[in-house]
Amino acid sequence: MNHGKNCQDGKQRWAIALHGGAGTIPRDSSEARKQQHIVALTEALTIGRDILAQGGTSLDAVEQVVRYLEDCPLFNAGRGAVFNREGVNELDAAIMDGRDLSAGAVAAVRYVKNPISLCRRIMEDGEHVLMAGRGAEAYARNSELELMDDAYFHTEYRYNQWQRELEIPTAAVNRGTVGAVAMDVRGNLASATSTGGLANKMPGRVGDSPVIGCGTFADNTTCAISCTGNGEEFIRKTVASRIALQMELKAQSLDDAMKDVVMNRLSRDSGGVIGVDAQGNAVLHYNSAGMNRGAADSTGRFQVAIWEW
Ligand code: ASP
Repeated sequence: MNHGKNCQDGKQRWAIALHGGAGTIPRDSSEARKQQHIVALTEALTIGRDILAQGGTSLDAVEQVVRYLEDCPLFNAGRGAVFNREGVNELDAAIMDGRDLSAGAVAAVRYVKNPISLCRRIMEDGEHVLMAGRGAEAYARNSELELMDDAYFHTEYRYNQWQRELEIPTAAVNRGTVGAVAMDVRGNLASATSTGGLANKMPGRVGDSPVIGCGTFADNTTCAISCTGNGEEFIRKTVASRIALQMELKAQSLDDAMKDVVMNRLSRDSGGVIGVDAQGNAVLHYNSAGMNRGAADSTGRFQVAIWEW
């Protein structure tokens, strides 16, 4: 098989990056707690790496990585999602296919165990892109996706965090969205993002993650992007598509475009971005204290970190 530009030195190229949110555990957390995060990020990255190294699609890689992170209670997505002001877990997610710009997204849904797989169903069905609330939940039920009751999403850690937030509301939001971007051996890009949003958010509040071009974007001609951080800021500045447009219109590299947007256009401590370009460069930047993240590619790169690499 001829993989064209994706074949270097006879080796098929692929790349993946993931994040587990820009809101990290405190630096002075116990070694055991830090290790839990590193182990989970490593496990997630291994899932994505194995799919891509075996010739799987970028869509499968990002969906499976995000499903793993949704199931892991350490991160603010799926099980482990933050509580809103009424003590409910409302979930947002999106997936996008860089081949044809098809996309599926859900906003403010409850009960859906893996919102990212619901997004994929919506994308593949093709009639709509973004579905919200009860309609999206009915869609999941009709698609025979797994539904869980509220207790499944309730974790002690997030509940206590919400209780503290009720007592002393902080501007410093509790962030922890998960996301993945990938390029497969055919050169196709894909992006997936899933979140419980911001802790103590108003019921019905929707962040950037399910808004195509803001928290999630993929286009084979430029890059795949997934964001984490203060969603209102990322929506106003259309962060994901801005990075792609700077590459397209200013001929900037992914690294230059992402650095410019994250460091110069976003307000300080607002979050971070991961991306992969059509040449298989995995790039990660953040302007927050840290970002749970990882990157791997066909050259042997395999890195996970919360703070410095
Ligand atoms: N971006 C997400 C939101 O605003 C939150 C996060 O990344 O933690 O909903």
